[in-house]
Amino acid sequence: MARPDFDIVVIGGGAGGLVVAAGGAALGAKVALVEKHKMGGDCLWYGCVPSKTLIKSAHVAHAMRHADRWAIPPHAPSPDLAKVMERVAGVIRGIEPNDSPERFRSLGVDVNLGDGKFVAPDAFEVNGRRLTAKTFVIATGSRPAMLPIPGLAEAGALTNETLFDLREDVPHLIVIGSGPIGSEMAQAFRRLGSEVSVVDVAPRILPREDADMADVVYRRMLEEGVRYHFESSIAKVEGKRGDVRMTIKGKDGAERSIAATHVLVAAGRKANVENLGLDVAGVQLDKGRIVSDARLRTTNPRIYVVGDVAGGYQFTHLAEHHAGIVLRQAVFKLFWAKPSTVVPWCTYTDPELARVGPSEDEAKQQGIAHKVYRFAFDEIDRARAEGETEGFAKLVTDPSGRLIGAAIVGPHAGELIAEAVLAVTKGMKASDLSSAIHAYPTLASINRRAADQRQKEGLTPTSKAWIKRIFGLQGA
Ligand SMILES: Cc1cc2nc3c(=O)[nH]c(=O)nc-3n(C[C@H](O)[C@H](O)[C@H](O)COP(=O)(O)OP(=O)(O)OC[C@H]3O[C@@H](n4cnc5c(N)ncnc54)[C@H](O)[C@@H]3O)c2cc1C
Repeated sequence: MARPDFDIVVIGGGAGGLVVAAGGAALGAKVALVEKHKMGGDCLWYGCVPSKTLIKSAHVAHAMRHADRWAIPPHAPSPDLAKVMERVAGVIRGIEPNDSPERFRSLGVDVNLGDGKFVAPDAFEVNGRRLTAKTFVIATGSRPAMLPIPGLAEAGALTNETLFDLREDVPHLIVIGSGPIGSEMAQAFRRLGSEVSVVDVAPRILPREDADMADVVYRRMLEEGVRYHFESSIAKVEGKRGDVRMTIKGKDGAERSIAATHVLVAAGRKANVENLGLDVAGVQLDKGRIVSDARLRTTNPRIYVVGDVAGGYQFTHLAEHHAGIVLRQAVFKLFWAKPSTVVPWCTYTDPELARVGPSEDEAKQQGIAHKVYRFAFDEIDRARAEGETEGFAKLVTDPSGRLIGAAIVGPHAGELIAEAVLAVTKGMKASDLSSAIHAYPTLASINRRAADQRQKEGLTPTSKAWIKRIFGLQGA
């Protein structure tokens, strides 16, 4: 049999594909990469980077308006969305060279810009070039799911792929979807001066999170003036961008109309599996998802799948983690390597809501024996100093005190969850968090204080009486 041209061919140059390509080349593999659009993928162009950049500008505008909270004279800015979006574009431009074809070529990757497909179980064709390889990695990501609502497309509905191209004013934005992306963008646009209405068929925001935690974010959104229409389906959209009217139907069947200028669809994602020649490659699909095993191997053993297109959680850090797992198998032949099941995430609203492992509700629903320990930010000195006291942390342990999950809603929750991620990954106990010294005054001490609740729980009147007796103490 002829020797394949490459050790690894990667299809898709986003978060997952680029890590496979760069890592493979660094380890000495001969790697080709195929990208049909722009290297960097969703995260760089339409996802994490632009959204978090926009959120920062929105945060500054909000802080200026409410500066009196920190004893500074407040000022009501009138943000110019075009300028804010130029800043977003500038941040993307600054990062882009890291992901560029030139950089990857300099790393030794054979970069092919174009649209291709499998022409055999061991060959992918792009720009008329046939690439054969020992291992293929499908890393084609996902795209926004468009809803079949009459008039939605004609109204110039935005998605995350077009939102950051906006340069005009957005007086009133309707956001369809109150999940993480919808919530982040609803708050950002509200803070940047838009009226914002959110429509969702769900009964509340962030339905994946415990209701008491999502409620902290929801209350803040209401305070800031975001309007919600829950348990509402959309009957139709009329008009064009700049002047749109949406007819929604509530749970009671009553119809009402919302007049707005722009509509953003943030109602789920669809895996990019089309036109890849997957049938020719022997890669099976099930309900639009690529079938893969616990090792990320598709039904063609030489083809792996990583990132959003693999189904499951859709995060940049998970795509990168998948990439490492595939490299271990493709390069080092560690065929037992499997992705970690400990996957953290964060919704970057203000306050942030971050989680790892099962939530309290999930532990209950799944019948997992567990205990929950909480601690509120208003008892953390640093949170008081920062004037950011809303929210709390929840640790979920097994009955022996081993940490199985954690969730934090509050300031910088996305940073604070990292300690719990390590603890859950390494099977640590709440007592490990309690006994580790945390710098004072830090927000991170909320992790220790929540864990301390477990230690305090052991102090029953009986155990206290024994301690007093054994050690000859005189207190009450
Ligand atoms: C608004 C928004 C905000 C987000 N914020 C966060 C966040 O804060 N944190 C986080 O972790 N995640 C976030 N995400 C999710 C994150 O962007 C994705 O999980 C991540 O980009 C997935 O990486 P990937 O490699 O699977 O796909 P992508 O990074 O999307 O890369 C896929 C690549 O494949 C290419 N491609 C597609 N089809 C083909 C084909 N047929 N041939 C060749 N190439 C092809 C695409 O052009 C693209 O470059 C956000 C997503 C959105 C939409």
